[in-house]
Amino acid sequence: MRALLFSGGVESTCLAAMTKPDLALTINYGQVCAPGEIRAAKHIASLIGMSHRVVEASLGHLGAGDMTGIPSEEVEGRVPEHWPFRNQMLLTVAAMSLAGCDLRELIIGTVLTDRVHNDGTPEFLSAMERLLQTQLSDFKLSAPASTITTDDLVRRSGVTRDLLGWTFSCHRAEVACGACRGCNKSLELFARLECEDGAAFPTKSSTESEASS
Ligand SMILES: [Zn+2]
Repeated sequence: MRALLFSGGVESTCLAAMTKPDLALTINYGQVCAPGEIRAAKHIASLIGMSHRVVEASLGHLGAGDMTGIPSEEVEGRVPEHWPFRNQMLLTVAAMSLAGCDLRELIIGTVLTDRVHNDGTPEFLSAMERLLQTQLSDFKLSAPASTITTDDLVRRSGVTRDLLGWTFSCHRAEVACGACRGCNKSLELFARLECEDGAAFPTKSSTESEASS
């Protein structure tokens, strides 16, 4: 079994098209944007003919940052959506939900700019793979986009602009707020893509490159 962590966002949608997993998992861990993620993920999965499952693991009371509505500790350089131990939790919950399914590969949509998060670094990914391998033989953790940007991932994936238009990336609400880092990154990406190919995309006055670095 090869499974993809699928939030219905741009990166995991590109990876769904590229890696064709046996199953895509959307985890409702209590993030305020979960209904929007689940709605987008279900629709995109149906469009590309991918098996999809929603896993319930309510942990919002243990989180912090934009995705919970609970302010996170202010630390210099830390982004507002920082949720301590988030990716560690998501990978663990995914592995737990697939216990007994002969899980051989988990695919996560980490991209180069996620290195601003402690749990988006190459060190984290290799440590998590080793940790999961202690309980899963013949297992690998894949992050196929961890050394490239979202823009490069979109280009390589070949996903259509129509499909990308169904993605959901808001951190703060179940309907895109248009103001958080997740929404801004998507709007800026769509504006850049529109410049490249003239496709009709939602636009925003600012087309500055991603602020996360
Ligand atoms: Zn938003």
